[in-house]
Amino acid sequence: MAHALVLGAGMVGVSTALALQAHGKDVVLVDKSKPGSETSYGNAGAIQAEAVEPYPIPLDMASLLKIVAGSDNAVHYHLNALLPNFGPLFHYFRNSFPARHKVISKQYARLIGQAIDDHADLIQGSRSEALITRNGMRRAHRSQKSLDVVVAQAEYMQREYGVLFRIEDGAALHRAEPELKTSLAGAIHWTDSWSVSDPGGLVKSYAALFAERGGIIVEGDAMTLSKSSSAWTVETSEGRQSVEHAVIALGPWAMEMLPRLGYRNPLFLKRGYHLHFAWPKGKNLTFPQAPMMDVANAVVISATEFGVRICSGAEIARRDAPPDPRQLYRGIEAVKELYELGPAVESTPWVGNRPCMPDMLPMVGKAPGQKNLWFNFGHGHQGFTLGPTTGRLLAEEMIGGLVPQSALAPDGRISRLRK
Ligand SMILES: Cc1cc2nc3c(=O)[nH]c(=O)nc-3n(C[C@H](O)[C@H](O)[C@H](O)COP(=O)(O)OP(=O)(O)OC[C@H]3O[C@@H](n4cnc5c(N)ncnc54)[C@H](O)[C@@H]3O)c2cc1C
Repeated sequence: MAHALVLGAGMVGVSTALALQAHGKDVVLVDKSKPGSETSYGNAGAIQAEAVEPYPIPLDMASLLKIVAGSDNAVHYHLNALLPNFGPLFHYFRNSFPARHKVISKQYARLIGQAIDDHADLIQGSRSEALITRNGMRRAHRSQKSLDVVVAQAEYMQREYGVLFRIEDGAALHRAEPELKTSLAGAIHWTDSWSVSDPGGLVKSYAALFAERGGIIVEGDAMTLSKSSSAWTVETSEGRQSVEHAVIALGPWAMEMLPRLGYRNPLFLKRGYHLHFAWPKGKNLTFPQAPMMDVANAVVISATEFGVRICSGAEIARRDAPPDPRQLYRGIEAVKELYELGPAVESTPWVGNRPCMPDMLPMVGKAPGQKNLWFNFGHGHQGFTLGPTTGRLLAEEMIGGLVPQSALAPDGRISRLRK
């Protein structure tokens, strides 16, 4: 019998499978489709060394009013989604207050601080170097006032967490991104972050490494997971798989799995969209040189193998609500002011969900009250960055009993459903 089933082959699941395998364990990785086909495909492709503080809800009245009025492109909410998500959103709001947010950020920064090294090992092992660019990441500001405000924050982050940045004025930004067709006030250039030209391709490449090292990847439905006295079992295209341990690494779909396992779902989702645009014909150029956030419009622009990928901010919607990509379309109009774009590559945008915990930290560790059941989900805005790190930490706990960061442990963060 194999040692463990990892359910979900996004960045988090594949990395967990690799980490368990590195400890000499036989692992079966199960997904309903191919590895890296969902959220870990559709993101902005940034390995974010700079993301040491999770996104808080802004607390100043002006920003809150903008969100309420629907004029902040970073957040768009649907009234009918507020009630079903009231509990998680309220706790997320409370955790956005400075004292609590600072404690959370210390934990978060410790995780983020390990991410580049953990990816580096897997990039090398999977020979994925061609997908990686090490040009940092920019947050570009259209007005001097907005740039001035964030300089103090960036200096604080450097002092507190050691993340490195450069301030670029408009001219320096233009030298770094020569295809910009308009002059901006400048940017904060976070120099240590990396980017990936095909995020789903990187996950596939990590999954190929797992298979090359003897791991088994099968298609199957995680929702068929069941437990007997000595094993966890799941139905797959290769038949029934029975193993000692099961790991839930289902990203946004963890919220459907948890009630089946007897837990109250703690997650809420922040939807996001992307669309690709061709580079202008006949000019033989690619841009941007590093992922760039247009801060005023809350869109991230990155260069991918599919074209210029434009990703939107957070939408709070009911799980079953139809796509409403208005933030993306507003963002695209804004990007067109910055760059000359070719035609859209797809006719409809990709849509996916960031799986978010109310306390902003991923849930990594032993499931309370169940033997040999483990969690690794809830990575919110940075699961593509953090997958290899939380995968390694979970494997260390499963194999060696190490609980590296108690704040990540499920105990006390998830409750059982009443029978
Ligand atoms: C627009 C956008 C931009 C983002 N940009 C970034 C970024 O630049 N950097 C960053 O670090 N993060 C970014 N993120 C966040 C990041 O993409 C996620 O946190 C991360 O991909 C989550 O990984 P995961 O493995 O937990 O989930 P997923 O990648 O979604 O993997 C879950 C897997 O479970 C599988 N599954 C679902 N149901 C079943 C079932 N019944 N049976 C079997 N398998 C099942 C799915 O097929 C999927 O492969 C972004 C997210 C969005 C939406």
